[in-house]
Amino acid sequence: MALLVQKFGGTSVGSVERIQAVAQRIAGCREEGHDVVVVVSAMGHTTDELTSLAAAICEEPPQREMDMLLASGEQVSIALLAMALHAMGVSAVSMTGPQVGIMTESTHGRARILDIRTDRVRSRLNDGHVVVVAGFQGTSSGSGGIAEITTLGRGGSDTSAVALAAALGADACEIYTDVPGVLTTDPRKVVDAQLMTTVSCDEMLELASLGASVLHPRAVEIARNYGVPLLVRSSWSDEPGTLLTSRKTRNIGRDGLELGSPVDGVEQLEQQAVLGLSHIPDQPGIAARLFEALSKAEINVDLIIQSTHEGSSNDITFTVHEDELERARTVCDAVLGDLGGALSAEGGMTKLSIRGAGIMGRPGIAANLFNCLSQQGINLRLIATSEVKVSCVIASAMGHKALRAVQEAFDVSDSQVQLNPPLEGENEPEVRGVALDRDQAQLSVCHVPDRPGTAAALCSALADAGISLDAIVQSERQHGDGSRDISFILPKEDRARADVALAPLLAQWPGAALEEGAAIARVSAVGAGMPATAGTAGRMFRALADADINIALIATSEIRTSCLVPENDGIAALQAVHAGFQLGGGERHQAKGSASPLDNG
Ligand code: ADP
Ligand code: ASP
Ligand code: MG
Repeated sequence: MALLVQKFGGTSVGSVERIQAVAQRIAGCREEGHDVVVVVSAMGHTTDELTSLAAAICEEPPQREMDMLLASGEQVSIALLAMALHAMGVSAVSMTGPQVGIMTESTHGRARILDIRTDRVRSRLNDGHVVVVAGFQGTSSGSGGIAEITTLGRGGSDTSAVALAAALGADACEIYTDVPGVLTTDPRKVVDAQLMTTVSCDEMLELASLGASVLHPRAVEIARNYGVPLLVRSSWSDEPGTLLTSRKTRNIGRDGLELGSPVDGVEQLEQQAVLGLSHIPDQPGIAARLFEALSKAEINVDLIIQSTHEGSSNDITFTVHEDELERARTVCDAVLGDLGGALSAEGGMTKLSIRGAGIMGRPGIAANLFNCLSQQGINLRLIATSEVKVSCVIASAMGHKALRAVQEAFDVSDSQVQLNPPLEGENEPEVRGVALDRDQAQLSVCHVPDRPGTAAALCSALADAGISLDAIVQSERQHGDGSRDISFILPKEDRARADVALAPLLAQWPGAALEEGAAIARVSAVGAGMPATAGTAGRMFRALADADINIALIATSEIRTSCLVPENDGIAALQAVHAGFQLGGGERHQAKGSASPLDNG
């Protein structure tokens, strides 16, 4: 007999018939003798409909009232599901987030879970009930002793379920949804997407935060941190679905279930070299040519960063091991010989990274890292961000000082520091899945002073406003006055608030200005084997070039490569990259723009 937490999403409880089918499945589980805690979402598109109602009444509804409104959706489905179970003779009791005691921060709309009072659920389980819990909601202590209803952010029922499983020490958490499990990409956008039988939490964390909406990234973060056995399965079948695997586990600490220190290690990679190509033509195929040539020369490239400037030419910067510097220089010279442009190359660099789940989802963490380095007077040569790592490339001479400062800032012990870690992912696929994100906007701050602290100041200003940014790229080229540009992407919904957050900073930097980039989509490839496989980036750029898609920005981290492409090319880019890495399994290859009939977005 096991204790199972089972979560059913909006489509799975979208009608009376579906609620009855879910009840039937739960009844079967009870018959097998298992204890079951069920977490449900609001029915069908209820949350969207409630959001539209609010928008029809006021432009910026108060966050507290939004939470009051949205939490009502889940309350409908828990009651109906409990009734359906009763009707089948299964004793069941429904509970709201506050009734369970899902304690959260007070931030409305995206509250993180601090604690779950397991005694209330347990006593009802002991009484022989199936406990049906409203997902996506919790309660904060509020002001003046009045408890407030909070919500966890869109898609947050997954997080409720995994957090409950962690708190209860459940034997498994099963996420039932409208697809057979986690697929190589969104089957609504690429018809031959294939089921993955397993995927690591680190890979899934990247995929989920890069647009694979099948799981809420915070749910994966909790599963990874506490080692919750997590499965994603179809509501309509008994197929096993996808198992998420995690390596390390910790105990729930005093800081709060979702708030414990997100940084669990620091890595330092020495003897790095940075090569920068600037003023190269902005047209499809250039990045493919360069990285194919490097791959052919068997040079393993680590970080790659590309951005477009003055609308017409590109800079591409990448890192290799110092021993490869001269050979890489020769390859670049040959490529530049045909194209024009300038090359800079320097060794004596170190890459310093902080590691942990969900780092970029918490904007303060990257800002702290950059601040900590700038306070030591250390200039950031390159920045690479991902959900599980933030890396900075700095001068080796500063390496020791930087490491000590970072250890202190993030409370990292010597045993959590890895010096020149071996390449990971030897036997893993270079690309496990691809994802598309159309909810990001591109911004550049032009003419920022070239001195330690500028990236830190930018990130801090946005972090203070609760805005996460990603794919932060500092331009290789300098303006006549020595200033540079910094580009990044941020969620579209935070775009307007970023103007306000950055205004005081821009006022301090003479000549600095905010520039809105063209509408973009981000297509990303993720795979644990990427660091150990040469040429992955070249293959991704080739797939895009062959589909005649221009790349506006490239940002990589260890296990992910992301490209910004014109918004209208998003689906075609996703299809091209999926086919390029042969993820479809079959021979089917989709032509540019041929979205599946299922595509609704
Ligand atoms: P639920 O309501 O059950 O939480 P969601 O709509 O949140 O369901 O998530 C399931 C959807 O996620 C699928 O219908 C699919 O379109 C989308 N999706 C995006 N990327 C992936 C992927 N890599 N694998 C599976 N589904 C994906
Ligand atoms: N009902 C909420 C939403 O639509 C939470 C969820 O479904 O996970 O975002
Ligand atoms: Mg969902």
